[in-house]
Amino acid sequence: MNAKNYSNELAKEMNIAEYETEQWRAFEQVYIRKIMGISSIDVGYKLQLPIIGRVLRWNAEKMIHSESKNRNAVRADGHFGQVIPLEDAKIILGNLAAEPIIENYCMCRWMQRGVKEACCINFGVLSGVIEKLPRFIPKNNVYRLDRDEAIKRIEQHNRKGYVASVWFQPVPYINAICSCENPECGGLRLRQDFGLNSVYKAEYVAAIDPDKCQGCKSCVSMCQFSALRYIPSQERVMVDLRKCFGCGVCRHACKNDSIQMVPREQFPGLQY
Ligand code: SF4
Ligand code: SF4
Ligand code: SF4
Repeated sequence: MNAKNYSNELAKEMNIAEYETEQWRAFEQVYIRKIMGISSIDVGYKLQLPIIGRVLRWNAEKMIHSESKNRNAVRADGHFGQVIPLEDAKIILGNLAAEPIIENYCMCRWMQRGVKEACCINFGVLSGVIEKLPRFIPKNNVYRLDRDEAIKRIEQHNRKGYVASVWFQPVPYINAICSCENPECGGLRLRQDFGLNSVYKAEYVAAIDPDKCQGCKSCVSMCQFSALRYIPSQERVMVDLRKCFGCGVCRHACKNDSIQMVPREQFPGLQY
């Protein structure tokens, strides 16, 4: 929510156009090197080892969170994100995101499933970079969005069950809100499979009001993280707080308004 991190001034100061042009022109390589590379059987196995695994993990985290001036764009150094609920995505798109705002094809779904779906909302300098790369631009949709259209699109994605996430590219410059799925999203996959902090959980967790919940289970299938479980003896659904990413997507399925988002910090010890 820091306006400076979205600003054209910061983009200029950090020479973002050059970094992102190099990164996006080689995006297939970024994906193959970073996501497929880390999740390959060889590296994936080594990451589980006690000593070698710790060294590899330290290096991967350093790359993901790098603030160095000589960041490697083709490894996407300094590129990480955080899950956000719809309310926060609307504030960002309505007030903070730099213009122009565009919606382009999701690279993760394309690389993982061969499906081209327009659901990545990018803004500021990055929009100009992507617009010059036709393979990312949807053929049949309008891809330049005004703020109201961008809010409408993120709402549609969220209701469908996609998880909103905001991204540094690279830290501390913010220029994207994605609508992700698990495990298609490369960032979520690195986090879920290997415990790397490529995506942080939201500042919230879900809380279910047991007096309102009717145990219909509609919310369970909406959760991308298996954080909701039906308890037969209670005839209610409960949240596993350790698994909850705080995306808020489950709320769209509840006709009884039983699910609220509460600040994660109220539960000491829960990981971000
Ligand atoms: S981060 Fe999410 S929306 Fe963005 S490219 Fe990956 S899966 Fe697609
Ligand atoms: S339980 Fe948590 S992670 Fe699952 S959909 Fe609800 S808010 Fe998202
Ligand atoms: S959708 Fe609502 S009422 Fe149904 S099980 Fe989930 S929380 Fe309970």
